[in-house]
Amino acid sequence: MSKFITLSTVSLNNNCPECFSKEGLELTFKQEFKENKFFRSITDKTTHFLRCTVCETDLFPVRWTEAIERVVDYHQKTITPKPKSLKLKRLAWVIILSIDALIILGVLIGFGVIKF
Ligand SMILES: [Zn+2]
Repeated sequence: MSKFITLSTVSLNNNCPECFSKEGLELTFKQEFKENKFFRSITDKTTHFLRCTVCETDLFPVRWTEAIERVVDYHQKTITPKPKSLKLKRLAWVIILSIDALIILGVLIGFGVIKF
């Protein structure tokens, strides 16, 4: 499962290609992370979304004007993504530790330290 964390949101002073308002454009930078029962991992993949809050339209890159592209490009250089990381959750540790315990038990039985 991929999810996104918001890194930053900036308001742009460009005209919206849909409603031509100068107040509505909002650029959001997001970074992808993956999370499941076992771990939470931040990837190095960042993405950005442009939305107009006046006409409530999601503006995909095909609709961007050259001026918008330039501004987005500029902002893209100023954001610092979070470093890639992987955090194991409790469940993962429990499993790792029980596997370890089983291996040790197996070795002890193998060497005849523990007899049934
Ligand atoms: Zn708009």
